[in-house]
Amino acid sequence: MSADTGSNAWRELRLTINEVYASLQGESTWAGLPCAFVRTTACDLRCTYCDTEYAFYEGTKRTAGEIFDEVMALDLPLVEITGGEPLLHKAVRPLMQALCEAGRTVLIETSGAHSIANIDARVHRIVDLKTPGSGECARNLMENIPLLTTRDEVKFVLCSREDYEWARGILQEYRLDERTGAVLFSVAFGRVNPADAAAWILEDRLPARFQLQMHKFIWPAAARGV
Ligand code: SF4
Repeated sequence: MSADTGSNAWRELRLTINEVYASLQGESTWAGLPCAFVRTTACDLRCTYCDTEYAFYEGTKRTAGEIFDEVMALDLPLVEITGGEPLLHKAVRPLMQALCEAGRTVLIETSGAHSIANIDARVHRIVDLKTPGSGECARNLMENIPLLTTRDEVKFVLCSREDYEWARGILQEYRLDERTGAVLFSVAFGRVNPADAAAWILEDRLPARFQLQMHKFIWPAAARGV
């Protein structure tokens, strides 16, 4: 990492932030845990099922130091950087490094369309592999796959049976279950019956972890901040 957290120069780096809030982690193997979320503004993808379109443009320019202080004030051991697409912002890498150095467990959720190289090795990277049904499959940066470790997780959001078969093929071709800490399968809300997806996984004895977006069941009416 090149970030000079020792000199505090990173604190003056600016990035556009949509929201900072405390909630329960709704996805991944960290689901259910209290978590501080930092949602950055902007995404260069347009997935058909996106539920955070409000983060495409809405936001405020702030310094990484301000965001760090706000996250620390939330007083939660787990922090997730999400978006939008957080890796569009140069300040995100040093911010994550500083949070690791402050003893936080840091997750980043990324679309998988940008390089996950040069991220502090303590960070857990949750990388989407966009299915054909997302409309953004061509944006998957397959060069990221060799960089994945057992600290990381990959996520497939299924829009159809065809998406399931595609995801199964990628999992098997790249042995993602051995390469990463978890292979997450979930369904695009309202597009695949969860019981069907669960049955497909069971039938194939697939080494994937099925998940539903917990926050959508706890706070079904909330559009943001969860
Ligand atoms: S990558 Fe995430 S934020 Fe960007 S369009 Fe897709 S679902 Fe929305």
